[in-house]
Amino acid sequence: LRASASQRNERARLNDDTMSNEQTFIAIKPDGVQRGLIGPIISRFEARGYKLAAIKLMTASKDHLEKHYEDLSEKPFFPGLIKYMGSGPICAMVWEGRDAVKTGRALLGATNPLASPPGTIRGDYAIETGRNICHGSDSVENAKKEIALWFKEGEVQTYKSALHDWIYE
Ligand code: ADP
Repeated sequence: LRASASQRNERARLNDDTMSNEQTFIAIKPDGVQRGLIGPIISRFEARGYKLAAIKLMTASKDHLEKHYEDLSEKPFFPGLIKYMGSGPICAMVWEGRDAVKTGRALLGATNPLASPPGTIRGDYAIETGRNICHGSDSVENAKKEIALWFKEGEVQTYKSALHDWIYE
């Protein structure tokens, strides 16, 4: 079967080794931290082959969270979301690897945990949308913005993983 032009483009995009350094912002929300899920969530990103580039625990201010979620400021759940996200420490991370943004979202699962299949993080560990334990950037552009909001430059590490050539062809 002949691949369509868009399939060929997608394959070329995925095979381009420069894509192995795409970065995404992943956060374990206060409920995920309190429930002892930092380890299991990190394990899934490591096991998939992604590389941890930055990590810290941080209790975010209202102002910081309002910036992070500025696109949702008109939503009825916005005040509750800001209160929930500020209710305790968040584990903020940068994960790096090919297609990290899209695959990161797939690992997390759907926004509504009940609509998220078993095997995804939310599908395995959560029930309510308002307590869905984790966040992941939804585009490369937003990932850049979020990483810049949550981390100072020196906090994001650049290094070659010893596993690189066992994960990428
Ligand atoms: P995602 O986090 O999957 O990118 P959104 O950007 O739509 O989803 O929403 C951001 C966060 O706001 C969600 O992860 C969830 O914690 C919260 N949220 C979204 N929709 C609702 C809702 N209807 N009720 C309560 N909280 C919500």
